[in-house]
Amino acid sequence: MKIGIVGLPNVGKSTLFNALTKGGAEAANYPFCTIEPNVGIVAVPDDRLGALADISGSKKIIPTTIEFVDIAGLVAGASRGEGLGNLFLSHIRSVDAIAHVVRCFADDNITHVHGGLDPVSDARTINLELILADLELVEKKLETEGRKAKSGDKQAKVRLSGLQKLQQSLEQEQPARHCKLTPEEKTLLRRDCQFLTDKKVIYVANVDEADLPDGDDNSYVSSLRSYALSQGDQLVCVSARVEAELAELDEDESAIFLQELGIEQSGFKRLINAAYSLLDLISFLTTGKIETRAWTIRRGTLAPQAAAVIHTDFEKHFIRAEVVPFDDLISAGSWNGARQQGKLRTEGKNYVLGDGEVTHFLTSA
Ligand code: GDP
Repeated sequence: MKIGIVGLPNVGKSTLFNALTKGGAEAANYPFCTIEPNVGIVAVPDDRLGALADISGSKKIIPTTIEFVDIAGLVAGASRGEGLGNLFLSHIRSVDAIAHVVRCFADDNITHVHGGLDPVSDARTINLELILADLELVEKKLETEGRKAKSGDKQAKVRLSGLQKLQQSLEQEQPARHCKLTPEEKTLLRRDCQFLTDKKVIYVANVDEADLPDGDDNSYVSSLRSYALSQGDQLVCVSARVEAELAELDEDESAIFLQELGIEQSGFKRLINAAYSLLDLISFLTTGKIETRAWTIRRGTLAPQAAAVIHTDFEKHFIRAEVVPFDDLISAGSWNGARQQGKLRTEGKNYVLGDGEVTHFLTSA
């Protein structure tokens, strides 16, 4: 999963990105890295892995990961090539979801690019740039698909009608994800072009620590939340500064710091949880002497396709899966214990894997 961090300059994107990539790496004791200065792979925290590794005597724990991309350079006018312009736009096309950081902290020492603090207007500025970039793409495509449709290409006709709907919707400042396309138009258009405003969005309100965890007393957050909800999007409050401090601490120190702040989970965890639910993702687990590991799949994935995430050959050679829910395995104390207690199930190729199910795939590969 890849999440792009966008927002106006000076709202705390880099502070958050650095905290996420650094903190995630330390907490998970996993060789994470920043691939490029603006791309980082982050371990998804999962408390279940340690307990599982203990009962299996695993040598290694391998969490599942999320890639974050700090997409700097989006300013008013980016779609016309201002700032990093098109470079920015190409980065964002490859992400699964967008974390849109909006400044909701007041601090006279930190310049706001447009003068005063107005989170809804800031969010709109960024959204308008994304809409304009999509509109440009739609207009280009309308020309080429129009020509193909005239010469009798049936698929081009479907794409053309989808593009016309998109054009109308974008011109009314509505994101592509709100446009009512037929399933066929959706499939054909999604295969060919990636619209920026088709991506799912989580608004990240960057607040001062006093406003954590929900920013209930912060009027900037309330107005941004109403705006996000009106668009059908979620909002998570974080304090990039707090996340930066947490990233410097070990696990025990972090727990104490969070307790002092009176919050249960770091912004990092809340952001990841929101992204998982937004993208309808879950994790299943595997465990053995060599390693205990978490794997990410979409909710509703069948066992053979889940096996393919481990190794592509496993799908073709899938025989069956042995499955035990995490809690049952922990209370049984071992794989054999779970089997003796009748907690271990054998499932076939039509089984839909659930979150936290510990799985052993039997294959002929
Ligand atoms: P970017 O341009 O969006 O990447 O913003 P930066 O991460 O560089 O942050 C801009 C400035 O805002 C820096 O001086 C940060 O220290 C400061 N900043 C970031 N997050 C917070 C926050 O939660 N509270 C306060 N008071 N300042 C912050």
